[in-house]
Amino acid sequence: MFENLSSKITTAMRTLKGKGRITDVNVASTVKEIRKALMDADVNYKVAKEITDRIKDEAMGQQILIAVDPGQMLVKIVHEELVKLMGSSVQAINLKPDPAVVLIAGLQGSGKTTFSGKLAQYLKKSGRNVLLVACDIYRPAAIDQLKVLGEQVGVDVYAEPENKNAIEIAQNAMAYGRKMGKRVIIVDTAGRLAVDEAMMNEIAAVKDAIKPSEILFVVDSMTGQDAVNTAKTFNDRLNFDGVVLTKLDGDARGGAALSIRHIVDKPIKFISTGEKMDALDQFYPDRMASRILGMGDVLSLVERAQMAFDEEESERINKKIRQNQFTFEDFYAQLQQIKKMGNLKDLMGMVPGMSQAVKDVDVPDDAFKSIEAIIQSMTPKERQKPEILDMSRKKRIATGSGTSVTELNNLLKQFDGMRKMMRMMNNVQDGKMKMPNMK
Ligand code: GDP
Repeated sequence: MFENLSSKITTAMRTLKGKGRITDVNVASTVKEIRKALMDADVNYKVAKEITDRIKDEAMGQQILIAVDPGQMLVKIVHEELVKLMGSSVQAINLKPDPAVVLIAGLQGSGKTTFSGKLAQYLKKSGRNVLLVACDIYRPAAIDQLKVLGEQVGVDVYAEPENKNAIEIAQNAMAYGRKMGKRVIIVDTAGRLAVDEAMMNEIAAVKDAIKPSEILFVVDSMTGQDAVNTAKTFNDRLNFDGVVLTKLDGDARGGAALSIRHIVDKPIKFISTGEKMDALDQFYPDRMASRILGMGDVLSLVERAQMAFDEEESERINKKIRQNQFTFEDFYAQLQQIKKMGNLKDLMGMVPGMSQAVKDVDVPDDAFKSIEAIIQSMTPKERQKPEILDMSRKKRIATGSGTSVTELNNLLKQFDGMRKMMRMMNNVQDGKMKMPNMK
């Protein structure tokens, strides 16, 4: 996400690094590079010009601050301007009154149905009773798709496959949702390939009929400048409350994301970075700006971890660590939790300094495959007590998992180191501070 923009801006600013002070000349050339990088990333020309003009004014106004490294100072200024451009503060989804009704709008293929499923899971995890409603009456497959997603995330789906009246379905769904005590009703609507009058009329009529608390406009960030135009048309008609940017995991240049807020004056509320149900993040302008500047996004990483980690499971593992009983079974369970957090490359990109480093690296989704295969090839007893692994057992496991004894030995060594480290941390936490028994 934003890798190209990120590397170009970083390069542009590198020329200022180490320079003693900011001068008209070096700021002008750096700002020009930044503007070019923004436009290459599909940021609207007017928006790119406005932001870079402000960056230039800011930078020149601070000329007297010679004590600060000019490169650092410019990073700070650019960061602040990007944050402002993307809307400054985080805007949460409005979930009042009870039940809250969220209407999902956008073009066909933008990712509405996928997002509806993700949002349902997201809200369910925060303890809400959610209902999904299939109002896409033109694409029969859309109803099935929503049903599959609903089942996957454990949320009820309301549909009337025979009914061709979207307004009626939406109204019936509202009555059903109220009766079932649902707290949030998410209505997935029909989209067309391009904006057309009939579609706009229909969704506007659904809006009038169910009076949603929140209308979210879903837009595919790969569509570049068109995304901005579509957003404008939908906003003129629906006056939506927020934007959802999808497919930021692809090679989207991302510039549309930076322009939409500025042009329609509506906040981006969520970003979607993959097809899996977990690939959803709330949109934080400051974190996104940090990501663009290659400063990483540790906070989003921590949040994903919190969403993926099952509290009971974590407590169970913590207890075992405290009692020095961490086994390969537990290690396997932990790997599954990490995998739930999403695509590894995406996760690594959130670590400061890593986004540039992993830009061209192919991080396979199945990076844990051989570790998993090894653990799966062990007997329950071996997983509990790896000490019993002699050469014949090791050979059996290596063959069974399609790995080698060397790979297995490496894993055993790492596992042993991990256990020693855990014991040491335990002792420190217990206030004993004694060193573990390193044999
Ligand atoms: P709808 O027509 O607006 O309901 O769009 P869908 O939800 O059916 O999505 C269209 C396609 O885009 C599907 O193949 C989805 O799996 C895919 N998709 C949706 N969101 C994302 C995303 O954030 N990243 C990627 N890579 N694909 C996505």
